[in-house]
Amino acid sequence: MNIHEYQGKEILAKYGVRIQRGVVAETVEQAIEGYQKIAELTNSKFAVVKSQIHAGGRGKGKIVGTEQRGVQLAKSADDVKTIAENLLGNVLVTIQTGPEGKLVNKLLIAEDAYYPGESDPKEFYVSILLDRAKACNVIMASTEGGMDIEEVAEHTPEKIFKEWIDPRVGIQPFQARKVANKLGLKGTANKEMVSFITALYKAYEESDSAMFEINPVLKTSDDKILAVDAKVNLDDNALFRHKDLAVLRDKAEEDPMEVEASENDLNYVKLDGNVGCMVNGAGLAMATMDIIKLYGGEPANFLDVGGGANAKTVEAGFRLILKDPNVKAIFVNIFGGIVRCDRVATGIVEAYKTIGEIPVPIVVRLQGTNAEEGAKIINESGLKVFSAVLLKDAAELVQKVIS
Ligand code: GDP
Ligand code: MN
Repeated sequence: MNIHEYQGKEILAKYGVRIQRGVVAETVEQAIEGYQKIAELTNSKFAVVKSQIHAGGRGKGKIVGTEQRGVQLAKSADDVKTIAENLLGNVLVTIQTGPEGKLVNKLLIAEDAYYPGESDPKEFYVSILLDRAKACNVIMASTEGGMDIEEVAEHTPEKIFKEWIDPRVGIQPFQARKVANKLGLKGTANKEMVSFITALYKAYEESDSAMFEINPVLKTSDDKILAVDAKVNLDDNALFRHKDLAVLRDKAEEDPMEVEASENDLNYVKLDGNVGCMVNGAGLAMATMDIIKLYGGEPANFLDVGGGANAKTVEAGFRLILKDPNVKAIFVNIFGGIVRCDRVATGIVEAYKTIGEIPVPIVVRLQGTNAEEGAKIINESGLKVFSAVLLKDAAELVQKVIS
């Protein structure tokens, strides 16, 4: 689960990572109030106004059809008013949002961490993520922080330093020092960076995160190290033990179809093809998508209805698939292991009845426990459902009913 920058920074602050002070605003008035609060706290007229969307690249991104950047510096309440009006309620396109962009619903008004007249602010890059291949966490750090880190990764990857942390023993003091030294820091700044890395790692580990990316990490001219940005991805599978983090979910940032799916305990990912898939089990769902492609089709989605599929989940699955206007046929591929095929068949027939006319052909393949009973229910239902036994026959049939 992704969270907003301001929420990520709140987690960091709890662990003693230094951040810019800031206020969240959802309206222009709140933005101005937030600015006044920050200006008072910092005794400075400079503040930065940052669009809060679940995507990076905001600094270079632009509001659609304008030259307005997603992150802007303000020098007065009037500036904040204009910037907030230009950002709030508009669509921001960055390299990470795709061409459709993301609607800006919230702003973070933060103190200007670069201080006006800052002689030599230095931007670093620090991230922590899971390295599955090494079964370790890895800290990545670079002196080339800022808005061009993607270019650095592509053209000069040797400028990104990596330190692997064994999760069984956690971060060792020498490892935090190694990172700080690699970043060329001396004296106070070095000590500050060691504390920063140590606290950041603790925050990452204790929140069961999958990724923390802090870019830029700023060294101010008085040798303070602070997080100017925070991109945090929490591990969905661990959210059950972090009720305080689970509530940070912002459904407005997610695909509405995927939100509906998760509310029905369905695992759904929208794709670009025209064959809707309803499958039980993630592995079988992947294999189903593969075979659709092998026979010349394109899956419209990944949908795993789970091991305990029943009439209700099957109906929710159909409704979800049918919301996608590209769908020309639905391929139901169920292996009766935990769930019995007759139960799924009954679910399909009932879903058909409650949804009413399903406007596309359905190919059903039921295998496993009570497969024959299942096929009988489908065949005797009088519905326009094609049934197949072999996976390849089913995939062929799908192509036939589409063309
Ligand atoms: P991103 O582009 O989505 O990664 O957003 P960031 O939070 O990294 O901000 C983008 C850029 O805005 C940074 O690389 C900085 O150059 C600039 N920026 C961020 N915060 C401040 C600030 O407090 N003061 C100033 N002057 N610039 C800032
Ligand atoms: Mn950034």
